[in-house]
Amino acid sequence: MINLRRWIQNHPHFLELLYRFTERVFVRLDPLWSRLGYGRVERLIKPFEDAAKKLIFDCRVCGQCILHSTGMTCPMTCPKNLRNGPCGGVRVNGHCEVIPEMRCVWVEAFERSQKMPVYGAEIRLIQPPMDWRLEGTSAWVNLLTGEDTAVQPGWQEGVEAYGR
Ligand code: SF4
Repeated sequence: MINLRRWIQNHPHFLELLYRFTERVFVRLDPLWSRLGYGRVERLIKPFEDAAKKLIFDCRVCGQCILHSTGMTCPMTCPKNLRNGPCGGVRVNGHCEVIPEMRCVWVEAFERSQKMPVYGAEIRLIQPPMDWRLEGTSAWVNLLTGEDTAVQPGWQEGVEAYGR
C-alpha cells in the first residue's frame, strides 16, 4: 500500500491536472453549493474527501490544503508539521532528523514539484501559518468560503516586507 502511494505521488503531473479540474468544477458550482448550504455540502463530501486524501496522500485533515503548492506531498506528514520547509535538520542523505529512516517530506516535495508544470513553481511561495481551528474540516469547503486563505492580521505586511 505504501509503495503504491509513493508511486502515485512520485508521478504528480496527473494529480495536479486532477486537482485543477476538480477545483474548477467545484468553484463553478459554487452558486449551487451556496444554495444548498456549506454545512450540508461538508457533511456530504467530507467522507469521500477524507478517504481519498488519506489513501493517496496520508492526509492529516488540516482543513487548509496546499498539496498543489507542495509537490502533491502533504506538509502535515512532516514530523514538525512545517508549512514551509525544509528545516535546517535534513541529513546529508536527504532523510529526516526526527525519523532518520524516513526521507524528508520537504525534499520529496521539492523533487516532485519539479515534475509539475502547472503548479510546480508554487513550491517557492511562503505559506501562511496554519489556522488550527480548521483542523478536521473540509478543505474543499474552506476553499469555497475562503476560510483556508484567511490569514491573521499582520501576516500580509510581513510577507510584503520580506518579499514572496
Ligand atoms: S495539506 Fe492538509 S488537507 Fe491537504 S493533504 Fe495535507 S493534511 Fe490533508
